[in-house]
Amino acid sequence: MTRILQYYIDRHAKKTIKQINSKLRRLVLCAFKQEYIEEQQKTRYGDCFQCGKCCSLLYKCPFLEGPDWNTKCAIYHKGRPKQCEAFPIDHQDLHDVDFLCGYFFDAETDAKLRKSARVVSGHIL
Ligand code: SF4
Ligand code: SF4
Repeated sequence: MTRILQYYIDRHAKKTIKQINSKLRRLVLCAFKQEYIEEQQKTRYGDCFQCGKCCSLLYKCPFLEGPDWNTKCAIYHKGRPKQCEAFPIDHQDLHDVDFLCGYFFDAETDAKLRKSARVVSGHIL
């Protein structure tokens, strides 16, 4: 029983650490790697269907309004943060929302850009 409990605690802790790391990564990329973001956006297809999944990573954003089936950002057209506009920056962000997003990337171009931006395993070198 203790092992099962420990397993779930570890799993939750790992997920939380990954989400903190991802948030920080987006923040740093938006602040210092604008070029990478712009190049990534050229390989990004699809559209946001405002599911609110990326607004509930780690914690539910206070600007997210409405019931789960009809969420809406209260500041969508009023200066939402850069990292919100940029989401998903690349595959790593899609992974954070279990790929349940209206956007997708050209895989080959994405891999080359990740290499050139020296973004390896979620860490900016
Ligand atoms: S997860 Fe994707 S589709 Fe959903 S709100 Fe975020 S960007 Fe839009
Ligand atoms: S500011 Fe808007 S887009 Fe950004 S996380 Fe909050 S609800 Fe989502």
